[in-house]
Amino acid sequence: MSGYDCSSPDFSKLVHFDLKGAPPIVGYYEQVFPLLKKLGATGILMEYEDMFPYQGDLQIVCQPDVYSMEEIQKIQSLAAENGLDVIPLVQSFGHLEFLLKHDKYYEIREAERYPNALCPSHHKSEGIILDIVAQILDCHKNSKYIHIGGDEVWHLGQCNRCKEKMEAQKWKKEHLFLDHVTRIVRRIREINQDIGIIIWDDMMRDIDVSILKASEIGNLILPMVWHYLPADEFKLKNSLWEKYASVFPSIWIASAFKGATEMTQLITPTRYHISNHQAWLRALNTFGNKFNKFDHYTVLCELFPVALPTLAVCLLTLIDGDFTENAHRTASNLLGFERLIEIDTFPRPQPVGPPPLFPGGNIHNSCLQLGNCITEYHILMHHPSIEGAFSSFQIMHNRVNTLHIDQFLPRARILLMNIEAINVQLESELSKIFYPSTVEEFLAVNIHPFLEKLRKLVRDADLQIIFHSAPEEMQSNSS
Ligand SMILES: [Zn+2]
Repeated sequence: MSGYDCSSPDFSKLVHFDLKGAPPIVGYYEQVFPLLKKLGATGILMEYEDMFPYQGDLQIVCQPDVYSMEEIQKIQSLAAENGLDVIPLVQSFGHLEFLLKHDKYYEIREAERYPNALCPSHHKSEGIILDIVAQILDCHKNSKYIHIGGDEVWHLGQCNRCKEKMEAQKWKKEHLFLDHVTRIVRRIREINQDIGIIIWDDMMRDIDVSILKASEIGNLILPMVWHYLPADEFKLKNSLWEKYASVFPSIWIASAFKGATEMTQLITPTRYHISNHQAWLRALNTFGNKFNKFDHYTVLCELFPVALPTLAVCLLTLIDGDFTENAHRTASNLLGFERLIEIDTFPRPQPVGPPPLFPGGNIHNSCLQLGNCITEYHILMHHPSIEGAFSSFQIMHNRVNTLHIDQFLPRARILLMNIEAINVQLESELSKIFYPSTVEEFLAVNIHPFLEKLRKLVRDADLQIIFHSAPEEMQSNSS
């Protein structure tokens, strides 16, 4: 197969650090960057969100654990030591929750009720975005690109200012979008004329080629085309590549997985993710000749140590041109797995091997075990002796037959003990990599609800046993 060669160092392979989820402490980058290098990554995309130490008016958007200026520089020098380019990503239109949730920036929202999108027609908007971008650029003097987001601007053109502007200019929403982006980009070029500017492509997918060309956006930005679904659901149209090829000299592509279920926040569905990369490889082979250059980037949604094995397999899938035995084995070896990285992580439960040796490997391992326990929890809670014979009504009125309790209580006790052990283990392991607020949130969301319900179940069962055995004991004592 003479496919598109993604192994070339000219084909950038970036890894996304999205700090709106769980920002790691800076020491973790030190452990992980050498590994990313070995896996073939060429750079990192840093989406700081509220972890960037904004100064001046913007200071209020910083979260309590915000990185210091020194830490921002440290991340970049660690990246440089490992030959990784750094591209900062900051939203400039939609997904601006970290900014627009603050009262101070309420007035520049597009829709009053939603903190997502910025109003491009408010007189303060451009200045605030420029302030954000200028501060980021000032701290990334070696970066050749900046990514300014621009995806999923759902509330575009809804406010009265925007509606009036569209009417006066005879514009559609797409003109409003292109006008904001090109204005921002031209202002960024005034700050740094050499910087490459990337935006997400989704808002441009349905814009007519003549409108795109008239906006001159093709001379100003590079689109990053994202598509996160597996092969059987991959649906970017062929006409899209024709259109982009006639407007843009080169494009970036982005693969990923976005979790949609309770369990996919905890465990990465590796097979699904690989399938998305295979679909991208096929797409590249079909339209690759239309562009001078491609670059690639992977979005991660779970905790970084949980997703790292999947990331490794996917990077090596790109480099090998398919998901090969070699890609699988190499990724597993580099990450210190005793056996091979699990590909079919669902359904659970399934056997969990010893913890892999990569930084955060214990977290990965504990999450797989936790995934098993949660599945067992759901099975247990649907046990007929609980669903049919141990309802809160039956408990409240002490109408429980203790024979039913015997059917589930031993299993419930073991499960409770196992989850308690994982809770202790995860708390200690997460604390080595994440800030206390992240650890607290992770445990509160992923473990504590199950622990509380199991503790209550076991307590209720024990009390019912005591209640129903007491009269008999008294009888036997009195005789
Ligand atoms: Zn508006």
